[in-house]
Amino acid sequence: MAVQPKQNLSMDSASESGFLNFFFSMPEKPDTTFRVFDRNDYYTVHGKDAIYAAKEVFKTNQVIKNLGSGSKKLESVVLSKMNFESFVRDLLLVRQYRVEVYKNKAGGKSTKEHDWQVEYKASPGNLAQFEEILFGGGGAPGEGVAGVVGVRVGSGPDGQRVVGVGYVDSTLRKVGVCEFPDNDQFSNLEALLVQMGPKECVLPMGDAGGDTGKLRQVVQRGGILLSDRKKSEFTTKDIVQDLDRLLRARKGETVSSAALPEMEKQIAMSSLAAVIKFLELLSDEANFNSFQITTFDLNQYMRLDNAAVNALNLFPGSDTTVGSHSLSGLLNRCRTPQGQRLVNQWIKQPLIDKNKIEERLNLVESFVEDSELRQSCQEDLLRRFPDLNRLAKKFQRHSATLQDCYRAYQAVGQLPALVLALQRYSGKHEVLLNAVFITPLNDLISDFSKFQEMIETTLDMNQIEHHEFLVKPSFDPTLSELRDNMDRLEKGMQSALTSAARELGLDGGKTMKLESNAQIGYFFRVTCKEEKSLRNNKKFTTLDVQKNGVRFTNSKLSSLNEEYTKSREEYEEAQNAIVKEILSIASGYMDPLHTLNEVTAQLDAVVSFALVSNAAPVPYVRPRILDKGSGRLFLKGSRHPCVEAQDDVAFIPNDVSFTRAQETFHIITGPNMGGKSTYIRQVGVIVLMAQIGCFVPCEEAEVSVVDCVLARVGAGDSQIKGVSTFMAEMLETAAILRSATEDSLIIIDELGRGTSTYDGFGLAWAISEFIATELRSFCLFATHFHELTALAQQLPTVHNLHVTALTSHDTLTMLYRVKKGVCDQSFGIHVAELANFPPHVIASAREKALELEEFQDLAPRETEGEGDTEGPEAKRRCLQKQEGERLIEGFLAQVKALPLKGLTEEAVKQRLSELKAELTAHNNSFVNEIVNRASGSKLVTT
Ligand code: ATP
Repeated sequence: MAVQPKQNLSMDSASESGFLNFFFSMPEKPDTTFRVFDRNDYYTVHGKDAIYAAKEVFKTNQVIKNLGSGSKKLESVVLSKMNFESFVRDLLLVRQYRVEVYKNKAGGKSTKEHDWQVEYKASPGNLAQFEEILFGGGGAPGEGVAGVVGVRVGSGPDGQRVVGVGYVDSTLRKVGVCEFPDNDQFSNLEALLVQMGPKECVLPMGDAGGDTGKLRQVVQRGGILLSDRKKSEFTTKDIVQDLDRLLRARKGETVSSAALPEMEKQIAMSSLAAVIKFLELLSDEANFNSFQITTFDLNQYMRLDNAAVNALNLFPGSDTTVGSHSLSGLLNRCRTPQGQRLVNQWIKQPLIDKNKIEERLNLVESFVEDSELRQSCQEDLLRRFPDLNRLAKKFQRHSATLQDCYRAYQAVGQLPALVLALQRYSGKHEVLLNAVFITPLNDLISDFSKFQEMIETTLDMNQIEHHEFLVKPSFDPTLSELRDNMDRLEKGMQSALTSAARELGLDGGKTMKLESNAQIGYFFRVTCKEEKSLRNNKKFTTLDVQKNGVRFTNSKLSSLNEEYTKSREEYEEAQNAIVKEILSIASGYMDPLHTLNEVTAQLDAVVSFALVSNAAPVPYVRPRILDKGSGRLFLKGSRHPCVEAQDDVAFIPNDVSFTRAQETFHIITGPNMGGKSTYIRQVGVIVLMAQIGCFVPCEEAEVSVVDCVLARVGAGDSQIKGVSTFMAEMLETAAILRSATEDSLIIIDELGRGTSTYDGFGLAWAISEFIATELRSFCLFATHFHELTALAQQLPTVHNLHVTALTSHDTLTMLYRVKKGVCDQSFGIHVAELANFPPHVIASAREKALELEEFQDLAPRETEGEGDTEGPEAKRRCLQKQEGERLIEGFLAQVKALPLKGLTEEAVKQRLSELKAELTAHNNSFVNEIVNRASGSKLVTT
């Protein structure tokens, strides 16, 4: 809970009504935009924003004060500067909302005039105006300031739907365009957004060729904030002129944007124009001549849809069914912010080019093999590098200080030690390490040599120990004179300490200290314990009392301090021109600073992969990468990296094998909680890990490069969905899967859980058949439709797998072992036993099941090679039994999930009878039989 501010929102009645009039005349805003009013020494928020702030910042409604009354009542909350800063940080960085800060242009707070105008605004993709608040005062964020994309849908020459995307990454100073045809599900756009990971997307209002809804859905599914912009902003009218200003010219050339090959992508260019306008890039001269333009190629990375990002649990906050860690959490052991950003980017952009994958694997292998090098990089060398990107940006914006120059100086100073450590490596990838790290680092050392020299000759290194960043006094006679004076004053203050300590009976320098800070300059400090010696002593003035002691002064010290502060100000004044000169030279080092950022990021990311690969419960192995199109995926003893990392799990490894034209489709059946989801998802995660160049949790792995991983995950546990939702889901699946190829991997999980209708089954069958025969992608399908296993008899590339469990008298033990063939046991009844159902209910269920099985035996359905000998009646009865089992399982799960503690016995009974009514409403004869026999018995739940 935040500390409540001291300030009150005080206005006289005329001023209050003026503000209310103004406030209620403001245009409407979405709930995701916050309006903050800057009242000079504090801030206020109003209406819904105030209620939100009370709840989130102060965790109490008591801070809400009302302005006005009746229909003009306005909830108001006051935020101190500190509250405001942390609130804004939370809104923009965590919640991804927008913030607008208003200032009254009509004069001070005392006037009755109200003309509040936006002073700053920011949205998650455009944080420039809030940079100081958000990231100032050190504490570099793990995530970079990601970009904004603009998307417009148009049509190609043949009338096909074409999507044009423009983006600006103000951190990396890049603008880019990408244009591609897409289907009605916008699968390509979805994949692109996953790869680029923007925070915000601008769309032309009310225009997407009739696909607005779908388009918005695709953007929002990725957790990206949508901002609607006027259609007229999506125009290429001024783009050539704008880019001429923004783009950086190569040495000796002038930019001529009109001739850029990117200009052919007119739809994408119009989207880029909208983003440039949105970010107001042209209103800040610091942006001029600083961007590079690129074309983003959708096909250079593995494509992932959002469902796959969730199912594979790539980032925190995505699906947490499998493991509490995300892959990013697991792989990100970087020591620098730039390394952390890069690992996240790599996870979104798995490689397709085999050579590039091998190169990354070689780099990782070097650090896996050389444990000394890995450790010294990880534990010592890398942590010495600051966020160089942020530093480069400050240089570029001319907002750097001498301290920033010193930071860059220090970072460069670390390079020789890093090079030395890397040079000690003598494994098989020496040449590669040389090319990727050692040579660029050596080049950087020489690029920066003049910079280092400049800092050494200009900065007063003696003062840096005291956290003062000043120009050397020897640089200028005025400076040295001032320095002499300051030194003299410092000496004077030291002797003031000695005499004051003597007077108080304390030990100067030990129990009583002379300290200084930027706000109050020099002061004395004693610990709270020693405070009594000060009491009633009129010669000393207490400045403040804090946890670490009492700060105070006396007349001698305060007059010396005053003099010192004056000299210090004069010093800063006198050094100003020199500082300007230093900063202007330093800003010329932006490019090498960017390079240094990239090299350290890459080293950090690779070392992190090596560390994780080596430190896993069972070390990971290097995957063998086969060319795209080789049609093979073989994982021996594979594990789910996130599940096995959990403390209480002894993970059971399993094999997977796919070979083109022989086995491309695996159907996985088996009991609930048997490990089906984990198994199919681990295959996806491992393929992705291999393609980002990391070692994999297997005994042995052979992976042909996959062009995309798509996933469909159905309803969650025991959630009984309506048939129509289910059918819609299946149809959508079919549409989405159209973008898959022979080189893709598809993961389908939990489809049809609890729905078990003939329609549902029919669709699942049709989709599977389509994937297996038309797409021929590799596919893992975990299902509760046991009937689906019959597909294996019809199609040679389809194979059945099942997760195993041991059933004995009263327990069901999951073995998590994946075996060939169909799971043939009726586990529903065992699950019932585990839920402590009365024995006679179970006995009758068993009896009934047996009857049905006998009936089935007359018409065998799963015997290899016999084909389809089932009569329609046999099939109907069989399906009915299986449907019954599933209904009972769903029922049991719901009973088990009842919050017994929070409910009265009456309420439990009521809920039970409702659930029972729902169960019998299905009118399934198998269920009815069991329920009839069980009626009257008391259900005991665990
Ligand atoms: P349901 O059909 O109910 O969705 P499921 O068969 O998909 O279940 P999972 O969710 O994959 O089952 O697994 C359930 C739990 O079993 C996991 O949370 C995990 O803790 C554990 N588990 C899964 N696979 C393994 C394994 N190979 N070794 C050890 N534990 C495992």
